[in-house]
Amino acid sequence: MRMIDIILKKRDGHPLTHDEIAFFVEGYTKGTIPDYQASALAMAIVFRGMNNQEISTLTDRMMHSGDVIDLKAIQGIKVDKHSTGGVGDKTSLVVGPLVASCGVKLAKMSGRGLGHTGGTLDKLESIPGVTIDIPSDRFIRQVNDIGLAIIGQTGNLVPADKKLYALRDVTGTVESIPLIAASVMSKKLASGADTILLDVKFGSGAFMKTIEDARILARTMVDIGNSLGRDTRAILTDMDQPLGRAVGNNLEVKEAIDTLNGQGPADFQELCLSAGAIMLLQAKATKTIDEGRKLLLSKIQDGSGLKKLAALVKAQGGDESYIYHPEKFPVAKFHAEVKADQDGYVRQIDALEIGESAMRLGAGRATKDDIIDMTAGIIVDKKVGEFVRKGEKLCDVYTNVEKHADILHDVRKSFKLSEKKVTLNPIVHETIQ
Ligand code: URA
Repeated sequence: MRMIDIILKKRDGHPLTHDEIAFFVEGYTKGTIPDYQASALAMAIVFRGMNNQEISTLTDRMMHSGDVIDLKAIQGIKVDKHSTGGVGDKTSLVVGPLVASCGVKLAKMSGRGLGHTGGTLDKLESIPGVTIDIPSDRFIRQVNDIGLAIIGQTGNLVPADKKLYALRDVTGTVESIPLIAASVMSKKLASGADTILLDVKFGSGAFMKTIEDARILARTMVDIGNSLGRDTRAILTDMDQPLGRAVGNNLEVKEAIDTLNGQGPADFQELCLSAGAIMLLQAKATKTIDEGRKLLLSKIQDGSGLKKLAALVKAQGGDESYIYHPEKFPVAKFHAEVKADQDGYVRQIDALEIGESAMRLGAGRATKDDIIDMTAGIIVDKKVGEFVRKGEKLCDVYTNVEKHADILHDVRKSFKLSEKKVTLNPIVHETIQ
């Protein structure tokens, strides 16, 4: 079999066979297929798509490209969640501890920032000492001991995705339903949880720009998970403005701490309660969504969610005192306020522009080897629907980049104001199962 023939076949719009997909995944993982051929195939898939059979095969072959974790040693139903990537998305840092403090086991493999989107691993690593590089046996022990672990795609877990994800990031091949579905589901299936909740984002800051595409992606992933015996559900959530107020690594950790203290932004808390309530249902810990929401809220009110976050940080080698004293987090050298140049209601805060600006401020990677500035980012002061007067603050910007005037200008531009009152979209649009 030759890789060139597989590329030509997909370029011309034909479905690939099981053996052709297996040949590509194996060869690329082993290094016998070079990056340039893998990126040509990825681009052909972006344009030509894949049918459900091809997507299932790609997912299965990627999942088996390395180790598959067996979580049977952990008693009870193990739950997992995954977001397709957004701006200001620190949901796992709140939902994970909340669900675990309800007695449910969460075994999660997370990712790094991709493009303009942030990654849970980078956020966790902004807490001094935290490691996400945990071998499978320790991962299992930690989930057993404290009910929660968040690890990276380390060791030999889904090596095919590790290589392909990095390649897609720099070859314009991220935005593809088959490639995203296989990437997400291969990781979720290899990390062994019994149930999977997918947070599929749509809007300017998401990889899926429209709700229609998000729905197709969600349906594709839910069907793959369910057909392999995992209870898989999805929520379609709004990413037309940043989630919550904080965008940037340690800024988002501080917002997660605020939320676990009951002082989080309304949209973010709502998403955490909605997602968490579905995860509790999947774990059969509760019977209704309403019961789940109340239980989760009680874990915010009695402080057990925050304690669980501290336990997670400690178990993964971090300094838990930062969770109780977030004022200890370092702050960037430069701080600027971006102000409104007219009166009006905030109609849109372009999440893509905010994500890209945060990246330029130092919060994300432009290339995969860039080092992240954990202190850089943006705190949105006026969210969509709020009224602002000329000269009032729209957001705070933090950076160590000396020359940041252009970035401030772009941040200002991402706030679109309107004279008319604005109706708010719900954060969770629909559920798919
Ligand atoms: N998240 C993933 O894990 N993979 C993708 O391809 C996109 C978002």
